[in-house]
Amino acid sequence: MPALGLSLAQSAPVRSARRGARRIARLWRRSLRFRTLVITLGLTAVAVLVTCVAMALAVQNNLWEARKDQALDDARRAANSAQAAVDAADTQGNRTALVGVVRDVRERLDSVSAGTMTAAFPIDNGSGQTAPQGFLSNGFPEDLVSDQMRQRVVKDASKQWWQPVALRDSDGSEHAGIIVGQQLAVPEAGSYELYIAYDLADTERTLVLVQSSLWVAGVVLVALIGAIAWFSLRSVVLPITEAAETSARFAGGDFAVRLPVRGQDELATLGRSFNAMADSIEAQIKELGELSLVQQRFVSDVSHELRTPLTTIRLAAEMLNDHREEFDPTTARTAELLQTQVHRFDTLLADLLEISRYDAGSVQLETEATSLAHLAEELVEDMRPLAASHDTELRYVAPGGHTPVDLDPRRVRRILRNLIGNAIEHGEGRPIVVTVDSNQNAVAVGVRDSGLGMTAEDAERVFDRFWRADPSRRRTIGGTGLGLSIALGDARLHRGSLAVHSTLGGGSHFVLTLPRGARPLEGASPVPLETADALDAIGVATAPIETLAERSPAGAIEEES
Ligand code: ADP
Repeated sequence: MPALGLSLAQSAPVRSARRGARRIARLWRRSLRFRTLVITLGLTAVAVLVTCVAMALAVQNNLWEARKDQALDDARRAANSAQAAVDAADTQGNRTALVGVVRDVRERLDSVSAGTMTAAFPIDNGSGQTAPQGFLSNGFPEDLVSDQMRQRVVKDASKQWWQPVALRDSDGSEHAGIIVGQQLAVPEAGSYELYIAYDLADTERTLVLVQSSLWVAGVVLVALIGAIAWFSLRSVVLPITEAAETSARFAGGDFAVRLPVRGQDELATLGRSFNAMADSIEAQIKELGELSLVQQRFVSDVSHELRTPLTTIRLAAEMLNDHREEFDPTTARTAELLQTQVHRFDTLLADLLEISRYDAGSVQLETEATSLAHLAEELVEDMRPLAASHDTELRYVAPGGHTPVDLDPRRVRRILRNLIGNAIEHGEGRPIVVTVDSNQNAVAVGVRDSGLGMTAEDAERVFDRFWRADPSRRRTIGGTGLGLSIALGDARLHRGSLAVHSTLGGGSHFVLTLPRGARPLEGASPVPLETADALDAIGVATAPIETLAERSPAGAIEEES
């Protein structure tokens, strides 16, 4: 197929040309230096071109004009000299003498004029008188003078005429020349057309030299301006690039970076302003950091301080609750409520203490080789009574995840307890599926309910501290609003991820993914986050999905599909 072959052969250069064009377009967009340089070079080249053309034309005109005037002067002088000699000759009608006069004219013209060749042709005046023949000296070609010029010379005896011609050398090469024509009146023989040819080869050479020097100067000028622009742009662009990099590092959290300030110019002013701004931001951030540290310490101290009186209150509440049969119904109910609320208070304090430990960065993993499948199974069994009290069926599926991996069992159990507790709380009594699976990079557990679910906006905030989707929702288990943010902290401590996919009215699916070994999470989570239905999850539990470990702050949030 030759047509296809041709199109393939053509496509390679076309492709590389397109690639080159794209690279240039990218440079044009991204590099201020490149853009300014191209514009400077383009405008300079146009300016230099126009100047060079104008100068070349002016030089050419002047040079030719001067040489033409010189030739006309010279021809006039030579013709006048010849005319004077002819007028002085006394031939007395002698034809031989007349022939001698014409020969003298030729010799005089050759010696007096600066022309290279001369020619004379007798003008037929119609009198029948035969004038001596004219002449063609130094190889003057007979056809060199155009008929038009000859007619003009014949017609007007008082004027000089000129015409540019191409003169041919003996070696056949051509160069510029000019012919000047006028009349010469020879007494008793009539008028002659007189032509003198001037060679302008040296003028032509001078012109070529001047013009080529002009072009070389033009190209050198453009190159010089390009180089100057490149270096002067460097002195502007480099500090700008430095400022951009420093700002990026500052934005990335390196608050100690500053711009070097040299001299008093605008760039120095920019540097000083930037550094002043950086100082002020750094000071404010430090102040805020100190404030937040004070707050953290306050929360931690208050929680600690509250623990001792709370323990006493809890013991008292438990004692009262244990003896509630002895009280009247109202007091008994109050004792019961007191016991519940004190328990909630206790949980809240424990959660607050845990959060303040995260904030202080003082939490540490206590890992041991644990089978996630066994851990999840045990926990599901532990939570069955709670699920049963909510008429909820707990299903457990574990296609993988039996091999032990290094994890902190206490924390993973806490995460799962929170996820399953939430699923029971918000699952509307529908079955809950706990799926455990693994691949070569990670182990994962998913908790899927088919209950109330959340909107995509709510799902984005689900890991925020003290956040609740709908505060008016009926609460039976009595969480603190800190459960999921602690769970996310625990997942991150394992360098894992906790992600959620939820649809309003369609239920939620929380997936905890933990890396095997020391390497960070990569690739797909063994438990797909999006499953069409709680029970379908069993069928597709091992289908790969993308890992969402990097999403923050709320782990990975999937939009409603
Ligand atoms: P708590 O459960 O103590 O309120 P969490 O941090 O565990 O706190 O959960 C925060 C909020 O996220 C809950 O109040 C609830 O509104 C929402 N939520 C958590 N899990 C689910 C779920 N499975 N289905 C619907 N909403 C949920």
